[in-house]
Amino acid sequence: MPTSSKEMLFSQAQIRARVQQMAREISRDYAGRELLVVGVLKGAFIFMSDLIRALEVPCRADFIRAASYGAGDESSGCVEITKDIETDITGRDVLIVEDIVDTGLTVQYLTETLRARHPGSLKVCVFLDKKGRRKIPFEADYVGFSIDDGFVVGYGLDFAEQYRAFPDVYVIHAGVEKDPDGGKVDA
Ligand code: 5GP
Repeated sequence: MPTSSKEMLFSQAQIRARVQQMAREISRDYAGRELLVVGVLKGAFIFMSDLIRALEVPCRADFIRAASYGAGDESSGCVEITKDIETDITGRDVLIVEDIVDTGLTVQYLTETLRARHPGSLKVCVFLDKKGRRKIPFEADYVGFSIDDGFVVGYGLDFAEQYRAFPDVYVIHAGVEKDPDGGKVDA
């Protein structure tokens, strides 16, 4: 891999504080209800594990995995579910938990797919939001941090399976090869 230069965007302490705030907000919104939290693999699993441990409402957990085909780190909009949830969501309060929304194409596909299964309610909680990169209009219901363009890693987000376990979030600067494995981008 070419030499990379990384700059810290959010520290572990900043992330912890923000996740606690989000959990309080979600707990208020869902008071008296049970939540089904659907984590989008792989990138959201660390965020989701911190978030659900801070929730004050009962919750169940399930996971979904999507792949989008595109060039480099750019999503093409051709999204496929490679691992589906195992829960019947009919009538349930469902919260999709995503690592990052970029073009919005993946989360739109996941939202449409789950909405067609008639949940009682469906919202999206995203750790990072690159609002300026949307190809379609999409607003998440809960956003951890809004960020500018740039490829970020850490706190579950990877670069070719590296950096996922970093407790802080970093932006990788230009000049780094982002897609050493070909055109399939893990969503
Ligand atoms: P979309 O463009 O469909 O909104 O995002 C597709 C997926 O690309 C995201 O779920 C995420 O896994 C990945 N992605 C987008 N931007 C970044 C980034 O800056 N860093 C990492 N590690 N993954 C990203």
